[in-house]
Amino acid sequence: MRIAIGGILHETSTFATVPTTYRDFETGLGLYRGDDIVAKFRGTNNCTGGFITGAERHGFEMVPLLWGFAYPSGLIPRADYDRLKRELLQRLAKAMTDKPIDGVLLDLHGAMVVEGIDDGDGDVIESVRRAVGQDLPIVTTFDLHGNHTQRRIEHASAVVGYDTYPHIDMAARGEEAADLIVRIVRGEIRPVMALRELPLFWSAACQVTAHPPMDEAMRLVFEAERRPGILSVTLATGFPWADVPHMGASVIVVADGDPGLARKTADEIGDWVWQRRERWHRRPLTVSEALDFGDKQGRYPLMLADMADNTGGGAPGDSTEVLREFIKRDLHDALVLYMVDPEAARQAHAAGVGGRFQVELGGKSHPVQGPPAPMELEVVALSDGRFVYDGPMYGGLTGELGLSAWVRQRGVNVVVVSARMQPLDQAFARSFGIDCAKMRYISLKSAVHFRSGFEKLGGSIHNIDASALHTHDFARLPYQRRKKPMYPLEGS
Ligand SMILES: [Zn+2]
Repeated sequence: MRIAIGGILHETSTFATVPTTYRDFETGLGLYRGDDIVAKFRGTNNCTGGFITGAERHGFEMVPLLWGFAYPSGLIPRADYDRLKRELLQRLAKAMTDKPIDGVLLDLHGAMVVEGIDDGDGDVIESVRRAVGQDLPIVTTFDLHGNHTQRRIEHASAVVGYDTYPHIDMAARGEEAADLIVRIVRGEIRPVMALRELPLFWSAACQVTAHPPMDEAMRLVFEAERRPGILSVTLATGFPWADVPHMGASVIVVADGDPGLARKTADEIGDWVWQRRERWHRRPLTVSEALDFGDKQGRYPLMLADMADNTGGGAPGDSTEVLREFIKRDLHDALVLYMVDPEAARQAHAAGVGGRFQVELGGKSHPVQGPPAPMELEVVALSDGRFVYDGPMYGGLTGELGLSAWVRQRGVNVVVVSARMQPLDQAFARSFGIDCAKMRYISLKSAVHFRSGFEKLGGSIHNIDASALHTHDFARLPYQRRKKPMYPLEGS
């Protein structure tokens, strides 16, 4: 058995001002070809890592094509996308000429938007379908944050979405996709799919799969997956910063040869979610509300999830509201992870360890992100930004945050970085010598993923909506193209 594997992954925020270019794929998690894909991802927690484990377990031959991941950011220009897609398809055509293949495993995100192509993922799947013909299976993995379309399930044979947020099961879902494609090729199963779209916004704070209320939704998903005839169930919470007509939550059910069962199950889960729609919303706190409430609780470190400036969702990462509040309150053992400000990072390197410099920190990318915080900083430690993740999400993978520095003013510490990446674990802070457990206040530019590496600190976590581009107050986002009505903004 010979299975081609590949992926083009992007979570596109159409509200982010910086476009996502071919170069961003090269410098994100990277752009890999052929055997380099296997060398890079064997044993790591991503879907391709799971494809590889599956291939080794089932003994099928992998034909790795092209794999690229750019960090979440703005719209992908058409020419940059076409260049990626062209190479993926050329490599696929070459693989098929060398020797027939039996199927394709695709590692996709599910919220990719390209200039002129709202449904980027659907376009990739349809193009691969055209290349391989109607008879070969295509099995696709998707992030929990996909905005799904009928086009995708028409052209894929089966899809498998992540079941966790933070996404700690990516490899497991990749392996599940590998299992499915093997069973399809052997003629053991004949998957059919149904999609149920749900017109609702789902707050990130209510998506933590290990905690209520999301754990209950996941229990229903797992229970449905154990029913006879059901092969896989995906509950996608959607990605609301992609202003496209198909934005929103959805359910996809893969059944074995029974379209009626797929439809009925997708509708049952969809109805269950819709009937409980008020549960999937929680208003985040303001910065001062969270600090006041957290201090009253007295469980430290008091961690603030700076959700609106989540670089992992495509926000710029230089919002200063939390930092300015830390300074105003003259907090001690306070830490900001991370502040994206390449200019300040360069100044820190020029000043050297122990040096001091004055700076207007952050708040430079967009008026909503500012104003910059005027600071007199002491340089505590410097870094070239390279480190190895040690948490459950990216453990073993190399992170590259560019020129970086640990700087401080009195009790307020900031890790200044040059690249936009959310803090997924404590490894980078530790590389400077920062012990997060000793901090009293930690602000993280992340919505949920940081929990995989920081919840173990104990303390308390508070979701906040500071002034930044990715506000979770959806009424403030300048939507033009999403469908209406969507709960809770319109209707009930
Ligand atoms: Zn996600």
